[in-house]
Amino acid sequence: MRPLTANVLEEALAAKLMLSFGKTPEEATDQEMMRVSALVLRDMMTLREVETRQETRRDKKKQVHYLSLEFLMGRSLMKNAYNLGLLPQLREALEHLGFQAADIFEVEPDAALGNGGLGRLAACYLDSMTTLEIPATGYSICYELGIFKQKIVEGQQVELPDNWKDLGAAWLLPKPAEAREVSFGGTIREFWQDGHLHIVNEGATIVQAIPCDMEVAGYGTGHVNVLRLWDARSTKPVDMSLFSRGEYLKATEEEAMAETIAKVLYPEDNHYEGKSLRLKQQYFFVSATMQSITAKHLETYGTLKNFHEKNVIQINDTHPALVIPELMRILIDEAGMGWDEAWGITTRSVAYTNHTVLAEALERWPQDLVQRLLPRIWQILQEISGRWQRKVDDYYHDGAKTEKMAIIWGGEVRMANLCIAGGMAVNGVSGLHSEILRSEVFKDACAMEPWKFQNVTNGIDHRRWLSEINPGLDALIRELTGGDAYLLRPESLRKLDAFAEDPNVWQRLAEIKRANKESFAAYAHKTQGVVLNPDAIFDVQVKRLHEYKRQLLNVLHIIALYQKLQDDPGTIIQPHTFLFGAKAAPGYAVAKRIIHLINSLADQIAHDPVCKDKLQVVFLENYRVSLAEKLMPASEVSQQISLAGKEASGTGNMKFMMNGALTIGTLDGANVEMHEVLGDENMFLFGLRADEVARLREGNYVPQRLYSRDVVLHRCLDALRTGFRDGVQYEDLYQRLLFGTQGSAADEYLLLADFSSYCQAERKMTEVYTDTERWNRMSLHNIARSGIFAADRAVAQYAENIWHVPHK
Ligand SMILES: *Cc1c(COP(=O)(O)O)cnc(C)c1O
Repeated sequence: MRPLTANVLEEALAAKLMLSFGKTPEEATDQEMMRVSALVLRDMMTLREVETRQETRRDKKKQVHYLSLEFLMGRSLMKNAYNLGLLPQLREALEHLGFQAADIFEVEPDAALGNGGLGRLAACYLDSMTTLEIPATGYSICYELGIFKQKIVEGQQVELPDNWKDLGAAWLLPKPAEAREVSFGGTIREFWQDGHLHIVNEGATIVQAIPCDMEVAGYGTGHVNVLRLWDARSTKPVDMSLFSRGEYLKATEEEAMAETIAKVLYPEDNHYEGKSLRLKQQYFFVSATMQSITAKHLETYGTLKNFHEKNVIQINDTHPALVIPELMRILIDEAGMGWDEAWGITTRSVAYTNHTVLAEALERWPQDLVQRLLPRIWQILQEISGRWQRKVDDYYHDGAKTEKMAIIWGGEVRMANLCIAGGMAVNGVSGLHSEILRSEVFKDACAMEPWKFQNVTNGIDHRRWLSEINPGLDALIRELTGGDAYLLRPESLRKLDAFAEDPNVWQRLAEIKRANKESFAAYAHKTQGVVLNPDAIFDVQVKRLHEYKRQLLNVLHIIALYQKLQDDPGTIIQPHTFLFGAKAAPGYAVAKRIIHLINSLADQIAHDPVCKDKLQVVFLENYRVSLAEKLMPASEVSQQISLAGKEASGTGNMKFMMNGALTIGTLDGANVEMHEVLGDENMFLFGLRADEVARLREGNYVPQRLYSRDVVLHRCLDALRTGFRDGVQYEDLYQRLLFGTQGSAADEYLLLADFSSYCQAERKMTEVYTDTERWNRMSLHNIARSGIFAADRAVAQYAENIWHVPHK
């Protein structure tokens, strides 16, 4: 690669600005400059993408297709410039043209086509797949509106539309010539002709799928991959004959359906929504994707018989599970294969990643909906289901197991069982989670086909989540490890362990954290008007709001601290700032109440002089990737307190660790592996373990007993009933914890059971904090041992154990 100077880049920016907007740098706005910067980088990536694609085709390389209904990409300008090795030059060029580089980066909207961890994982994996020079393509929907923007009004969440495309579309390259047609509804007609059974769908509604490609540059390589986002359009704008007959609504029906498909991302995280529009989205994206992949394969090889040798389809949770019947449809109906041959190819092509064990998140589609919307897919599903059921029956001769493992049962299509039957691999996303899949959730399938079940612990893009966002720490790491090798070899962060007893290094770490806290405080002041005390511990819980993640447990402990301070206003405590950030799904009432509660408590504490400079609670509005990027480097305590057995992996935990925050957490998800590398002495563990949770559940758990026995807990819970100075009462949450409500058991997520253990861990943590040397040594060990949580490691494991493709 030719190195590009700031001068050349500056000329390119000025020329693009002139030709695209007819403006000189003096006339341009920050927004226009951001767009122009994106266009210039996009041009460079496009050239490389064409080369990458030609090489893949010339060398007949096996390709990875990563399908996900969500890609939480965040911002791309700084990231792409970083990966292209152009970040310093871009900064210099922008400044030279009279702009503040930081302002230009700041106007870019997040491409927030995802909810939380699952979508962010897909984005991190795209970066690693590209950096590891794997020929890979991501596929999703080009949602017009990403995850809603959150505003807090009078303590409550208000959702606003996220119109990201105005500026965000600068990264998109529409390819209308590669559009595909996706059929919905209609009736299936079968007929024999020339000795072949032909199957046609008559009277279907056709929706056009138009690819909009977003290029993804790897780090330290010329390799460029693509994220292909499908936009939906009607095939025929309006039917003029119907229109002229006055049937106006009917004439625009298809158009309306097409336009809603790519309109909005479903905002539920870890929760299944059985809406027909959601099923339409899934099939739309899966069908367009499989048509595109098979057509390209045919262009290169002239046959689909070797499809599985040259392609692997990785599905991110069950949301794209319809790839299985869709690939079968293409192989049988379009390529004329017999069932067995098509099934052999399909089951050697598809691999499934499970992301949750929560029952309410398991997808089950009503069969009449599938039948009506996707008649041909329904036929194929019935055949798959029938054959699978016979196989299970022949193996177990046990009706109960046949029922449990069935794909179609009780009027529903169960997507996880479809993925197990139709996939070559099923993996969980942390050691504990994969073990729970093998021994509980998919126990019977695992006993029948044990070779399918694997583990790949999640990972994060450490170049973004450390080097790019925490330049101070990045510089220290380079200095101590003798260069930037860690960027491509994250395990070399281990070298930092050697400095565990170096007071100078502790000091440097402390200074970097302090500076990051001060910049975050400045940002919070500018955007939210809050004044954060940089002398306080920054104790952070940011993630989607969900009962299993137990933000409410954090709140109960803060209430306990507050009550202690009220009892004895003279106590000198370590100043403590609790930061929360979380979006609640708009229909998740309890989650929204918890957000309200956090804000009520924050308001109470802010107005109580007893708490001044001692205790503070802040709810950060609109938690998203770009906010996480500012917050992680400034965080000191990472709250990872889900009920053991419920969080599949977590990736937020990894971002904190890499930036030197210490974890207070349960043995859940990837926290378990964190504990394996850190030991008890470098993190603060508390609470029940997954097996103890299971045992407590089997017995008779009565939270009221804990309430009557523990005076601290008792007072905390009573405070919910009375509420705080804003007059809002939380009797509902109190009831939910002590008595349960219809449909949910009392204290479903065992907050009361873990409360005292949690308070103890918090006490221990604040005590250690006052021992700065010890704290900074622990922080150093956290950074040093975070290398295993790099996405590069995870993607290499997928490549070696599941995809069987070479990587750098
Ligand atoms: C990493 C990330 C998540 C996932 O956080 P968890 O704590 O693992 O649930 C969610 N949202 C955003 C914006 C993230 O960057």
